Amino acid sequence: MTDVIRQACILVGGKGTRLGDLARMVPKPLLEIAPGTTFLDLVIGELARQGFNDLVLLAGHLGDVVRERYDGRTVAAARVRVVIEPEPRGTGGALTCAGDLLTPRFLLLNGDSLFDINMRALAAEPMAADVEGLLALRRIADPARYGTVALTDNRITGFREKNPAVSGPALINAGIYVLRASVINRVSTLPCSIETDIFPALAREGRLAGVEREGYFLDIGLPETLAQGRRELLAVRRRPAVFLDRDGVLNVDHGYVHRPDQIDWIPGAIAAVRSLNDLGYRIVVVTNQAGVAHGHYEEEAVHTLHAWMRDALAAHGAFIDAFYHCPYHPDGKVERFRLAHVDRKPGPGMILRALADLDIDKENSFLIGDKQSDIAAAEAAGIPGFLFAGGNLAEFVDDCRKRRVGAALGLQAGGEFAP
Ligand SMILES: [Mg+2]
Repeated sequence: MTDVIRQACILVGGKGTRLGDLARMVPKPLLEIAPGTTFLDLVIGELARQGFNDLVLLAGHLGDVVRERYDGRTVAAARVRVVIEPEPRGTGGALTCAGDLLTPRFLLLNGDSLFDINMRALAAEPMAADVEGLLALRRIADPARYGTVALTDNRITGFREKNPAVSGPALINAGIYVLRASVINRVSTLPCSIETDIFPALAREGRLAGVEREGYFLDIGLPETLAQGRRELLAVRRRPAVFLDRDGVLNVDHGYVHRPDQIDWIPGAIAAVRSLNDLGYRIVVVTNQAGVAHGHYEEEAVHTLHAWMRDALAAHGAFIDAFYHCPYHPDGKVERFRLAHVDRKPGPGMILRALADLDIDKENSFLIGDKQSDIAAAEAAGIPGFLFAGGNLAEFVDDCRKRRVGAALGLQAGGEFAP
């Protein structure tokens, strides 16, 4: 599990010339899509929830503005650093400035586009030893505005320049890559562009892979697409949540589970989380941990176990947005945890906190638990709860989702709740 990718670099140095005056004072990714919320805030929030906790912003043009707002900031568990390129030398030049910071494999994203996919799954895609980069590709109906990509057996064989005469569906580079740090050795002469210098060279050598993904996509490079972002992006960020009890739902309830060696995943549990990730739900674990109050283990053990579970899920391209645990019990032995607390299910405290902390579409959210107290907590928080009596969790989740979604919502490509 040492190979779980936790680092994401974001290119935020572009000049945004096509936006004219709109991007004169701030770099394009720092344009607001709502009062107080920049486009980059959305990209960062998405990476953080998917478990990328080492975020490096590659800044150039107006780099001080980026540093001022983001350097040293933490977003959920993610730490943000800003690297400023002293002079503009293309995206390849920007990447070399981060050379010392790069982990052996990392995610690289365009800071001015958003492709709403499970990036954790992209990071978990197997990469052959001779492959230096893996690109997320998107099939679009009208590719005239973009260059297109030729893909054969998951290897990229070539790139075609933007051509207004091209019609019909084609694959485009959607601006999210998994790269090996060795890719910076490819930057020989400056300026250097990752997209137009390095990638075509790698493709010629057969060292560039691609996978097609579906999902909401927006590039804010034009005044009209920026306006579209301002209309649509807050709805993209607002996602329904599936609240999951832990013991008896994700893992077998052996009683006071608190160490990795005690985790026996419920059949279909990892697949269930992965499929909910792919569909665009938030996943929030809400777990009573009275073992802390009873003195069976320290609260730190809960955090350590949850970090271990995150890594185990990440290897399968799955992630949990947030874990909430309640260490309290009214009859606890440990005094500071001896408390009747609203967080302890059947109390709704943990669910209500998550609803306040995360941008959740409550209307389409639900909970799965294995005890009546889980269901009572859900109902007290105003969401439906489904009782899991054992079996395969992936099948059960599928069934709950169908019952929940019903016919009222139109299904759309890229997730049931895509705007
Ligand atoms: Mg349980």
